[in-house]
Amino acid sequence: MYLAAKKAQNKTDLKSLTKEDLTSYLEGLELASYRSDQVFQWLYQKGASSFDEMTNLSKDLRAKLNELAEVKRISVFSKQESTDGTIKFLFQLDDPNDYKVEAVLIPDFFPDGAANRLTVCVSSQVGCMFGCSFCATGKMGYFRSLTHGEIVDQVQIINELAEERYGKKITNIVYMGMGEPLHNYKAVVESAKIISDPLGIDLSPRRITVSTVGLTKQIKQLADEETGVNLAISLHAADDEKRNKIMPINESLNLEKLEEAVKYYFNKTEKPLTYEYLLFDEFNDTRQDAINLVKIARWVPSKVNIIMYNNVAGVTLKRAREVRLNQFMKILANKDITATVRRSRGDDIDAGCGQLAIREGQEKGKSLAKES
Ligand code: SF4
Repeated sequence: MYLAAKKAQNKTDLKSLTKEDLTSYLEGLELASYRSDQVFQWLYQKGASSFDEMTNLSKDLRAKLNELAEVKRISVFSKQESTDGTIKFLFQLDDPNDYKVEAVLIPDFFPDGAANRLTVCVSSQVGCMFGCSFCATGKMGYFRSLTHGEIVDQVQIINELAEERYGKKITNIVYMGMGEPLHNYKAVVESAKIISDPLGIDLSPRRITVSTVGLTKQIKQLADEETGVNLAISLHAADDEKRNKIMPINESLNLEKLEEAVKYYFNKTEKPLTYEYLLFDEFNDTRQDAINLVKIARWVPSKVNIIMYNNVAGVTLKRAREVRLNQFMKILANKDITATVRRSRGDDIDAGCGQLAIREGQEKGKSLAKES
């Protein structure tokens, strides 16, 4: 694959261009503007990997594009399927370094067994530099950010499988796979635009959720851009001392700064947001933690997702016990906080994000985490 890419070195990868730039590029080749919609649809909706597949373009046009441009596309390297229906994909990037990223299809079923929600969790970077102590991806360090094309490819490929298997398209997308989405801001926003484009994946932005560890500048930028996507904050601890211990980013962007950004976001968008809170046994599951979380959940209208952690090899933090979860939930309910429990899925496969890639021998990259 790399040799082919090398040969095509001077060609323009059409999936590296935004929709506007793709239109300008094709206009520069003196193509009628409706052609750019056709090419866009081939690239992102139909998942074409070559110009020869674009059969509604003339032969001459395909030959011209073959000469000047290329279509990069990721491919499925391996798949693991859980007994609960969760499917984890390891994708091979079209990349000289042999990088791989993960994405997961998480189906929910009606009592009669038909598929209800089909959620896809996508990666935005190869590895991650934020070094959260509970996260398998954080242990890898950071290698590079994905292009918007590589992000949309994950969704397009999984969407095809969903249609084949369940007879329906995916219903929700969460940017909660490998990487910090707002650390790859431009590509993430562009990918969300393509995913919601009727000529792309055609999924409403209301069905797309971007998560962040709390990059305050980008949270405000997202609010200003009015993308319509939902925002989730990966909180995981409700005071600075505990958050510093498990999320190094909190040392520079603490809860006070996060509060300011979150209030800015809500004032601008009027969209409630979600706090993701992994419940760790005897670390952040005490009565005081719940009370601190209540205060945060009241900054602006929001809901809380309490997530039962998939234990990760080599991580001392462990999933909270049911009895502690129940006490924690009771406190939130008594304070009128909307909170749901997300049970871990895919327990029997490598469901902790980054585990598959680590197993495939990814080396260590850059990280904010202190070496232990
Ligand atoms: S939890 Fe998210 S931000 Fe933290 S290390 Fe993992 S991928 Fe990066």
